[in-house]
Amino acid sequence: MSARVGVIGAGYVGLVTGVCLASMGNEVILRDIDERKVAALEAGEVPLYEPGLVELMFAHRERISVTRSLERLLERADLVFVAVDTPPTYSGDADLSRVMGVVDELERTGADARHVLVMKSTVPVGTGERVRAELDARGLDAVGYCSNPEFLKEGAAIADFLKPDRVVVGDFRAEDGDRVSALYEPLGAPVLRTSVPSAEMVKYASNAFLATKISFINEIANVCEEVGADVSVVAEGMGLDRRIGPSFLRAGIGFGGSCFPKDVAALKQLAGNSGYHFQLLTSVIEVNELQKRRVVGKLKKHLGSLEGKVIAMLGLAFKPETDDMREASSLVLAARLLAEGARVRGYDPIAGEAARERLSGIELSPSAEAALEGADAGVLVTEWSQILDLDWDVLRATMRRPVIIDGRNALDEAAMLAAGYTYEGIGRAVGR
Ligand code: NAD
Repeated sequence: MSARVGVIGAGYVGLVTGVCLASMGNEVILRDIDERKVAALEAGEVPLYEPGLVELMFAHRERISVTRSLERLLERADLVFVAVDTPPTYSGDADLSRVMGVVDELERTGADARHVLVMKSTVPVGTGERVRAELDARGLDAVGYCSNPEFLKEGAAIADFLKPDRVVVGDFRAEDGDRVSALYEPLGAPVLRTSVPSAEMVKYASNAFLATKISFINEIANVCEEVGADVSVVAEGMGLDRRIGPSFLRAGIGFGGSCFPKDVAALKQLAGNSGYHFQLLTSVIEVNELQKRRVVGKLKKHLGSLEGKVIAMLGLAFKPETDDMREASSLVLAARLLAEGARVRGYDPIAGEAARERLSGIELSPSAEAALEGADAGVLVTEWSQILDLDWDVLRATMRRPVIIDGRNALDEAAMLAAGYTYEGIGRAVGR
């Protein structure tokens, strides 16, 4: 049975949610306040980079409409997903102004008993109860509310949405949760029905755990460097243990992106606001910040002072297959290199324009080859396949010094050494 779905906020999560739900046969109306996004969507364009999204949107365009008007969305939708951004504030708390702005707007636009508000945005535990109270205080007690956190990864968002490991639905009234759960039934994934606060916590706890795994393997990598072990092999050996599992055990230069840094900070803050000092997360964050800077030490080891040296950063987005630059490790690394007096070049196959807005003082190169030409060192920051597949044998001769720091342990170490590079990864034994 198809549903009438509205999505407020057509960003990475909202757009993927809307397009995927349309692909499952539902009627979908997307609403955004960003005029440029709405105009692009109306023209059949996708205003962000996510593999497969343009094609899926085009294939199901007859079931997708776009609007700037919340009234229109409420007329045409019963289940109203909220996928607005919840960026960090200076205190590390989540900024809920956009979420609460939607609640304010609902009062003016006549939401009623047909509507269930479905929170996809990542919000601190307690937000649902706060929204419920606000709705009730505004006479919108008939409007339902559910928490339905999203676990998709940018770059693989469609597959993650359509083949989720689990769907989590928290409700205040079982009938609202039933309506949301029914929407996901065709996916055949386990659906965890729970309270709203528990659903909210599942999201934060999951991201905090994954971030912890990353900081953990990064610290193991740093110890490996001291004692002559190879973290790639160590991670493989650990990952074969089913209690541990192989994912999120690749050592590198730290996690970034629009979710992990802000969600880990928000959970730490949430705990602190409730009187609990979340010591482990404090360390996870600190390890990550230091990890982003470790490349600088490695470069100095090979080049001496970085003053005037030309450093090519290969890949700028926070991970491959996305144009998202939010909290990317490249931002911190670029700033550190500039502070050391280096001349910094950057290249990204997709995120060049997004990078221009956030990276000042570096030169954006049109290609990896141009970035490396005459450089004193190259740093693999984001493991795009386009970068891994470069003709590294040929490129060596174009560099002033053939120094490559592999910040993602993604290049073939033996091949790089055979090609004559001074190669160093993170926590790898050879090349130290
Ligand atoms: P985003 O910034 O890409 O998109 C948010 C969109 O909401 C923007 O287009 C913005 O213009 C729009 N918006 C803001 N206020 C609005 C309003 N009142 N009405 C309509 N539109 C409005 O953000 P995102 O990355 O999609 O993240 C959205 C939420 O999902 C966040 O809470 C995030 O933590 C969470 N989340 C993100 C990811 C991810 O990988 N990006 C994964 C899981 C969860």
